[in-house]
Amino acid sequence: MPVSQEYMDRLTHETLIRSASGYASREKIGSRAMLITPAQLVEEPLELNEALPEGRIEYTSDIRQVGPLSLAGRAELIVEHRGPKEFVEDIRLRAHFDGHFEALCARCLDPVQVPLKGDFDLIFRPENVDAETGEHAITEDETEIGYYEKSGLLLEDAVREQVLLALPGRTLCQEDCKGLCQQCGANRNSAPCACESRPSDARWNALAGLAAHKA
Ligand SMILES: [Zn+2]
Ligand SMILES: [Zn+2]
Repeated sequence: MPVSQEYMDRLTHETLIRSASGYASREKIGSRAMLITPAQLVEEPLELNEALPEGRIEYTSDIRQVGPLSLAGRAELIVEHRGPKEFVEDIRLRAHFDGHFEALCARCLDPVQVPLKGDFDLIFRPENVDAETGEHAITEDETEIGYYEKSGLLLEDAVREQVLLALPGRTLCQEDCKGLCQQCGANRNSAPCACESRPSDARWNALAGLAAHKA
């Protein structure tokens, strides 16, 4: 019997879990990351129409991107005048993202598909600029402020943060996921394991209650 793709996926998934107690990082944000610098934006805003490939951004150990993440928006330069000769070059990044993610069920650790889309509007200041002056020249309440390093703003860093903010705090494969058996580790959604037929013991019940509470 040929091995099904589903089985292979599952196997790969479990191998990844075991290898690093979470999704193994396939690739860190590397040389292909997109750096946005104020100099690039002096003439005109930078229009963004990107398809960030799977693996470009490393999220957390239990979240991975599936397929490309589309990103459409623009980066523009905002110059803050803080004195006659003092100005600060901010980068405003506005974008819409749309993609698919896979998160692990909080109870049984099965992968769960999470479609995700969102919008953000952020202002990034050069790192340390506020530490020196302690001033806040921009008062737009609805715009969040971040900071970029001397070299510039890494688009992937900004997107990573926004994706993590947009994801639900806890993912379940189904509302009444039965989770893993506390004794044998079997996934109790697939089949009842032998442990369940044992006479119940008050101490185990207390433990199970505790575990259910935690999950
Ligand atoms: Zn589950
Ligand atoms: Zn069991």
